[in-house]
Amino acid sequence: MPLAGRLPFVLPDLAWADNALEPFISARTIRLHHGKHHRGYVEAANRLAVQAGLAQHPADDIWRQAAADPALSVLANAAGQAWNHALFWNSLSPEPEPPAPALARRIARDFGGLRELQAAFILAASAQFGSGWVWLVERGGTLAVERTANADAPELRGIRCLLTIDVWEHAYYLDYENRRGDFVEAVFTRLLNWRFAESRLDA
Ligand code: MN
Repeated sequence: MPLAGRLPFVLPDLAWADNALEPFISARTIRLHHGKHHRGYVEAANRLAVQAGLAQHPADDIWRQAAADPALSVLANAAGQAWNHALFWNSLSPEPEPPAPALARRIARDFGGLRELQAAFILAASAQFGSGWVWLVERGGTLAVERTANADAPELRGIRCLLTIDVWEHAYYLDYENRRGDFVEAVFTRLLNWRFAESRLDA
């Protein structure tokens, strides 16, 4: 379908190669997850935004407007998944460095330490029944772990999301089968991009 002008939702390029996160996330999972799942959400969001007459607006505005309108719930889900996956890719690094001192102090203050934050992530991931997301957020000056179902995100409620781990089965099933906790532990300990979290805090 030819469309005039640019479409609001864009599939971002990955900052690393498909196989850069191995052995913790396989190239096959990345190719499917980014190239099929994320791409599908972006294409659906654009198609539905055009149908709803909203395609001239920025993607974030379309997402918020759709999330507030029950008649646009299908668009809200696609737009939310487009945003959530972009944050997820930014949350991953093949060469992660530990949190810088300023962030490390806040993690110590609000959780007790990185090990406690890791335990909170794994607990939230196991508590999330069905598909969803686990988030490190800043809420009223305090860091916290939240979980959401399906395409929902704390960002929609004005809560700043710093990092996320996708706990939909497509994120881990090829590599970990049903072991969601093992996937979350591997991502948390080997791949989390604390530089990105710090950039979100500073923004
Ligand atoms: Mn996903």
